[in-house]
Amino acid sequence: MSLKNWLEAAETKRQVLVQGQVVPDPSRCVQCGVCTFHCPIGIDIRRHAWIGAPVTDSRCLTCGECVRRCPRGVLSFERTNLFSNSRFTTG
Ligand code: SF4
Ligand code: SF4
Repeated sequence: MSLKNWLEAAETKRQVLVQGQVVPDPSRCVQCGVCTFHCPIGIDIRRHAWIGAPVTDSRCLTCGECVRRCPRGVLSFERTNLFSNSRFTTG
């Protein structure tokens, strides 16, 4: 892995850890399966994209591979409820 790729992967992982779970935009998904192919623990992300559901699998490593590999920019990270607790709301 080149330094550039490593930095991109590290940045993606940082975003995941900060922002929460993988969320698909189903309108952009072409069901190619690249995301599922690259998930190191075999989560069927393509199916999540098909039905428009966030990846809530507790085994998700937040490695960012699926987000980085998707050729259509379907996947992104969104904040989980964990971080929307009112204790952390600033106004
Ligand atoms: S890689 Fe992207 S376009 Fe391909 S199935 Fe996964 S979410 Fe859909
Ligand atoms: S972030 Fe990593 S572990 Fe989680 S669904 Fe995507 S590829 Fe799989």
